[in-house]
Formats: sequence, structure tokens, C-alpha cells
Amino acid sequence: MKYYIIFGPPGAGKGTHAKRLVEDYNLKHISTGELLRAEIAAGTPLGLKAKELISAGQLVPDEVVEGMIETVFKTTKGVDGFLLDGFPRTMPQAVALDEILGKLSGEVTAVISLTVAEDVIYRRLAGRAKIEGRADDADPSIIANRIKTYHLQTEPLIDFYKKAGKYHEVDGYGGESSDGIKVVGDRIAALMKTL
Ligand code: AMP
Repeated sequence: MKYYIIFGPPGAGKGTHAKRLVEDYNLKHISTGELLRAEIAAGTPLGLKAKELISAGQLVPDEVVEGMIETVFKTTKGVDGFLLDGFPRTMPQAVALDEILGKLSGEVTAVISLTVAEDVIYRRLAGRAKIEGRADDADPSIIANRIKTYHLQTEPLIDFYKKAGKYHEVDGYGGESSDGIKVVGDRIAALMKTL
């Protein structure tokens, strides 16, 4: 079983590129952000708590997302692997992931990290707010908080996965034209062939 992580700041294009990867490699896409938004939409107690944190640009507690990931690993059949999108986002989550995978006799296969300049991120998230209607994309102060959270809590994972020899960077900027997504997608596809 393969366990890939697609990594990068908010707006790097993780969800967009995950779609092509899961098709090409028969992977199950696990986006913790999407799972949390589904809880919010269903009005569950977890969703109510998550909504407050998400709309402040903060992270939900580690145990919540760790439990979600483990459940999906255990209940998914018929795939060759998983693509984690938006998880892990903190050092404790990365450590927990290794523990969870250890129990399944697996390990992280590779981290595909999308790098994008900060001004591009702000532009993309503002554009996405109009298309997807996400409240956490629409407010510049929430975006700023999410990026701060990324620098403080998520960026340290780069070193963690570099030390493990699993970290691979891809330039996540493909230009402003509509071909930009394909340009980056092709870079990721080329990397995947080397893994
Ligand atoms: P995303 O769709 O990945 O941008 O996630 C949206 C929001 O969900 C984030 O800003 C966090 O508040 C929350 N979230 C998603 N994934 C995680 C995670 N792994 N750990 C904690 N909070 C998360």
C-alpha cells in the first residue's frame, strides 16, 4: 500500500492536483478539510466545534483529524494506496501518522510538496472564495491567520520529512493562463515516475 502526502500552504493547489493523482494511481483521496466541512454541513457536534476553529483560521485538535484518517484507512477497500491532503499539519500529527501506519505495516511513501509564492496564494484564495463559497477563503484576516498557522505549525514538517528522505518539492506555479494547472500536473507526474 502506498501512502502519499500532498503538502503545501493553503492555496498551493493540493486539492486540484490530488484529483489527477488519485485517478492515475488508483488512490483514495483523504482531505481532512473536506471531511471537516462535511461534518459542518451535517451539523454534527464535531462539526459545530470545528466550524468555530476553521472560521478563525485555526487548526482543529490533532486527535480529531488523526481519528478521521485512521477510520478512512481501515474502511477503504480496492485501492492501491492513499493520498493525504491537508494532513499531517502539525508535528504531533506527523508522529501519530507514523504510529498509525506502523500498525498497518506501512509507512509514508513520499511527500509531494507544492511551493508557491505568498502573493500567488492570496490571489488564488480570493478567487476560490468566489467559486467555492468558503468563508475561510473570503476574509483576508482569516487567510493571514491560516498562513501564519502554516508557518508556525506545518512548515516544521518539511525538515522532518527531509530527514526521513521522503520530501520532494515541485514548483506549484504554472503561470496565470488556464494551462497553469496542466503545467504543474505534468511536473508532479514526472516526479511520481521517479518515486
Ligand atoms: P483545508 O481544506 O485543508 O484548507 O482545511 C480547512 C481548515 O480545516 C483548516 O484551516 C483547519 O482549520 C482545518 N483542518 C484541515 N485539516 C486539518 C488538520 N490536519 N489539522 C487540523 N486542522 C485541520
